[in-house]
Amino acid sequence: MRKITIIGAGQAGLHLGIGLVSKGFDVTVVSNRTGEQIANGKVMSSQSMYDMAIGYERELGLSMWDDVCPPIEGVHMRAGLSDGTKLIDWRSRMGANGQSVDQRIKMPRWMDEFQRRGGKLVIQEAGILETEEYAKDSDLVLVATGKGELGKLFERDAERSVFDRPMRTIALTYVHGMKARDDFSALNISINPGIGEYVNFPAMTHTGPCDIINLECIEGGPMDRWSEAKTPADHLALTVELIREFFPWEAPRCENLRLTDDNGILVGRVTPTVRKPVGVLPSGRQVLGMADVLVLNDPITGQGSNNAAKCVNVYMKSILEHGDAAFDTAWMQDTFERYWDYAQWVARFTNTHLLPPPPQVMKVFGACGQNPALAARVANAFDDPKGLAPWYYDPVEADRFIESFAVPA
Ligand SMILES: Cc1cc2nc3c(=O)[nH]c(=O)nc-3n(C[C@H](O)[C@H](O)[C@H](O)COP(=O)(O)OP(=O)(O)OC[C@H]3O[C@@H](n4cnc5c(N)ncnc54)[C@H](O)[C@@H]3O)c2cc1C
Repeated sequence: MRKITIIGAGQAGLHLGIGLVSKGFDVTVVSNRTGEQIANGKVMSSQSMYDMAIGYERELGLSMWDDVCPPIEGVHMRAGLSDGTKLIDWRSRMGANGQSVDQRIKMPRWMDEFQRRGGKLVIQEAGILETEEYAKDSDLVLVATGKGELGKLFERDAERSVFDRPMRTIALTYVHGMKARDDFSALNISINPGIGEYVNFPAMTHTGPCDIINLECIEGGPMDRWSEAKTPADHLALTVELIREFFPWEAPRCENLRLTDDNGILVGRVTPTVRKPVGVLPSGRQVLGMADVLVLNDPITGQGSNNAAKCVNVYMKSILEHGDAAFDTAWMQDTFERYWDYAQWVARFTNTHLLPPPPQVMKVFGACGQNPALAARVANAFDDPKGLAPWYYDPVEADRFIESFAVPA
């Protein structure tokens, strides 16, 4: 039986671990936190996921909250100014619902499921020495440690990395008491140009259905005030204050917010980074990175967990197809390139939104307000950002794309 070790028990590591153990591999997953520590710890993400990614979970019987998690039925995209002037306003249902299950619920449950199916879970902070031991003892070691230190084993790919610093301060808040929308539940995105973004959608947490607010604050701008928030109550108060000031059209939904729990907040920064896939240990042994370790995006477009599931799908296929052959450098490189073939489009979509929106994107968004079929196409791109190329990035293609949705007179 082939022996595979996965370091990191997050969205990617556990999904792949459960997939491989279900296919008869001898799998060890190493986690630096117990399920209980994850359940009782702080939120790390807002983890909205869409149809293709959830589909990969469903294939393995891992979408365990379909009946209880409130759906994300569509997208509502607005851009406007602090005085309430709207520049863009379109909405559309998506082809299939998305969902966000708090990773504090999902990962402990998946840890149990992994062990139930025969996987071995080790609780340990794996450093270089421990990784060496696993590499000596396994046919393949995958590093799925997200933003953890071990990821530094993988060299930054300067050609594929667009930024070398964080573009946003991100403030995450899990709340109860948000007023429901009066049409459909949605991924609500509001852009205040030059200031930041408001992103909100329904989710499932420890205390039941909730809403998650993600404020994306341009570095050094007027929303980047998070050092002022010393307590969870301060954090909530600042969230509401910034919504009133910079996204006033969302304020009426936020009059009676309360935190789901004191751990339902997070402030952080992410440097969007692409890394080279093969990590070389001091012994010369090689390990393969995956998901956030190799392609780390700012959460502005809510793609990282989706990407992790899509990475698992590619890696699973590549491992299964490889039979009994050695997992050598060429295989590792090739496996990652198959993933990058898709992930590059996610990175491009996300990085585009970290800069002032190009004129063709504003034009497409403007046209979405007039044309429901066009709006539906753009809404579904959150499920599959590859579908945005080429028109999202090219003015001539954008005009052609808008024209193709013209209703004959
Ligand atoms: C504020 C915020 C909001 C987000 N919102 C969304 C969203 O709405 N939609 C979306 O799709 N994505 C979102 N993301 C991104 C998403 O959460 C990540 O992309 C996704 O969790 C990546 O999965 P992963 O398995 O690569 O890493 P992780 O989920 O981070 O898992 C890594 C695991 O490895 C463990 N670990 C780390 N180091 C070690 C070690 N040395 N030894 C053992 N274990 C270790 C960690 O404790 C962790 O459990 C968001 C991210 C942030 C920061």
